[in-house]
Amino acid sequence: MKLLVINAGSSSLKYQLYDMTDESVLAKGLVERIGMDSSILTHKPTGKEEVTEVSEILEHTTAIRKVLEKLTDKEHGVLASVNEIQAVGHRVVHGGEAFKGSALVTPEVKAEIRRLFDLAPLHNPPAIMGINASEANMPGVPNVVAFDTAFHQTMDEKVYLYPIPRVLYKKHRVRRYGAHGTSHQYVSRVAAEYLNRPIEDLKIITCHIGNGASLTAVKGGVSVDTSMGLTPLEGLMMGTRSGDLDPTVVTFVMNKEELSISEVNSMLNKHSGLLAISGSSSDMRDITDGWEAGKPNETLAFEMYEYRLRKYIGSYAAAMNGVDVIVFTAGVGENSAIVREKTCENLSYLGVELDKELNKIRSGEPRRISTPNSKVEVLVIPTNEELMIARDTLHIVQESK
Ligand code: AMP
Repeated sequence: MKLLVINAGSSSLKYQLYDMTDESVLAKGLVERIGMDSSILTHKPTGKEEVTEVSEILEHTTAIRKVLEKLTDKEHGVLASVNEIQAVGHRVVHGGEAFKGSALVTPEVKAEIRRLFDLAPLHNPPAIMGINASEANMPGVPNVVAFDTAFHQTMDEKVYLYPIPRVLYKKHRVRRYGAHGTSHQYVSRVAAEYLNRPIEDLKIITCHIGNGASLTAVKGGVSVDTSMGLTPLEGLMMGTRSGDLDPTVVTFVMNKEELSISEVNSMLNKHSGLLAISGSSSDMRDITDGWEAGKPNETLAFEMYEYRLRKYIGSYAAAMNGVDVIVFTAGVGENSAIVREKTCENLSYLGVELDKELNKIRSGEPRRISTPNSKVEVLVIPTNEELMIARDTLHIVQESK
């Protein structure tokens, strides 16, 4: 079965076409600057040359039409006909409390995603645009939605509630939801497979650290705690996001600096984290370079990032009364040997022992970076959210037949 996986943002749309007989990627690509007259479509068919096309793409329906044209193009295509696509999987950021797993798209499912616009005003509306666009271009083809929050719906009430008046939860569903669930679920499963141990027996801490970053405590295969909250701002220090702070900082700063709600939101989401402390960059590569060159601001940013990450790992070991496996994934987790080394250096009390040479190797494959003596297995596992969505889509479409 051939499946298209779509990740629609407000002005961008990423896609991957899978052949699920062997889970191979037939083509992938990206449409950028949707809504502008110089939109860019980059199409990478596997085994053929990448092509880029600049044209006017004003909305998502046109974007998907252009993608389908490329997928069936004589020169750059990989399909004889659009009819070969048997299902489409969509990434949706917020599934609220309604979605505990991926779901087949129905009018009710779309209505529920719309009801959640309040909780994810930047992310859920483009997801609906992506679904509508795919329905318009491929009538009759089933659509499946996979939610970033769904994996964390197993969290206990004591974990997901904030200690604030409960009426706010009852009225507005103010609680912790988490994010990056597809990635945390994927890497925890791959970790168990790699170690050849039943996931039911394992306490795993998955560190998805990229531009956005979150940690999850996965016990027996389910998420028992995760560091993101009502929105993806809570938790770790990130590229441009603050992560945890005293909530009073918000009201205090709003008052002193006469900031509006949107200004303070922008400060915390776009102008904080590594960028704010280094004053130079949100990219861990620049921060690490600055740290190695002895630059004080980059050094402070690096140290704060690593310290906060390590504290969260410690707290999740406490949450699960132990940890068997620590997994590093996403841009920083997969690529930054120095972040992994410095973090693990201070986890010796847990029995973590890193093999510094193994840690330096890059392979793009799941791999162990701890020593045989280490009490905790430390793994690097490249995440693959698209594949996880494709697998869910296949499963749900087959079940619904
Ligand atoms: P992601 O959001 O998972 O795509 O991660 C993107 C981030 O990964 C970038 O902003 C960088 O901070 C980080 N990154 C990518 N490559 C490296 C590297 N070689 N060393 C350190 N950080 C990296």
